[in-house]
Amino acid sequence: MNVCAQCIKNKDIWTELFQDAEAGECDFDKSHGSRYPIISIDEAAFIFDEVFRSKYGLGSSEFSGLDSRDKPYFEQHGEPLNFCVQGFMECDDKVADVLIENAPDEDPRDGGEPFYDQSYNYEELEHRKAREDAAAEDWLDLVYYTPHPTHSFEMDVRDTRSRMQAMEAEDPFLCRLLFIHQVGALERFLSSTFRRLIDADKSAKRKFVTSTDQLSAKNIKLIEVMRDEHLVENKIANFLHSFSFHHLVKVDNMYLKTFEFSIFPNPETDINIFKNIIDLRHDCVHRNGHNKDTGELNVIFRNDLSSFTEEIERLANHVHDLAHKHLKSLETPSSNETDFKPSETPL
Ligand SMILES: [Zn+2]
Repeated sequence: MNVCAQCIKNKDIWTELFQDAEAGECDFDKSHGSRYPIISIDEAAFIFDEVFRSKYGLGSSEFSGLDSRDKPYFEQHGEPLNFCVQGFMECDDKVADVLIENAPDEDPRDGGEPFYDQSYNYEELEHRKAREDAAAEDWLDLVYYTPHPTHSFEMDVRDTRSRMQAMEAEDPFLCRLLFIHQVGALERFLSSTFRRLIDADKSAKRKFVTSTDQLSAKNIKLIEVMRDEHLVENKIANFLHSFSFHHLVKVDNMYLKTFEFSIFPNPETDINIFKNIIDLRHDCVHRNGHNKDTGELNVIFRNDLSSFTEEIERLANHVHDLAHKHLKSLETPSSNETDFKPSETPL
């Protein structure tokens, strides 16, 4: 079978296909007759293959949502292979099909992955790269942007839940990792909420410094103060950065002394519930899930992870509500001893 120069119009590839060709009978369109240069479909497919592969690839897949059975489904970017070839070669669908069929492809029987598959979408590599670069930039923006502590905590909870739902079967290994992630999210939430509150409430910041031995017992020389005007703020920041916010009883103490509320919704029962969660986190982080005393492996199933996540979310919601109330109380003029301006950091 021969294809003629009237059947394929892409200028970039045209010369390579037809520059040395002689006119002859076109097998694809009778109306082209034998006026135009022709090339055998095998040769054309060989040249097509080389150029097409350098410019097109499989469309990338993107997570697009959960179906009715909570399974994730993906959508592929790009267009069906035949469309791409028609657009690229500027030919009709019949010529495109024959080019695809005759293009040299890895033979799956030899263990190679076929490049051409009419059931997938393909897209220009340049487009794909531009899209992926843009997505990477969005992601970086997300990383550098500091969202509200509650918002970022909620995102972490959502991540945990969507991965839990996407699990095809019980996967205690992944559950263990997600559990660590979830406790980490709580730590971060407690630490950034604390930070936000003392920055908004100067009298609370003083209470915090007074009630924290490592800060109140500091002896500072005058010359140090003269050298560094941010000395006090830096000492506070260093202390908070090095403080482990998973010591929930200590954190509770800190919140109580500074803001006069407990981080536990029901301190009597919650202290034990969260002690178990934190002990388990220690087993996971330091002993790959093995119990500190017995050496036994703590297996975390989806149900366990789901109830741990609920408990953690319950504590965070409680802290969020009280933190919000605390900030609101600063806005009323009757609250003395504060330099907080409501417009600065609304929670
Ligand atoms: Zn033709």
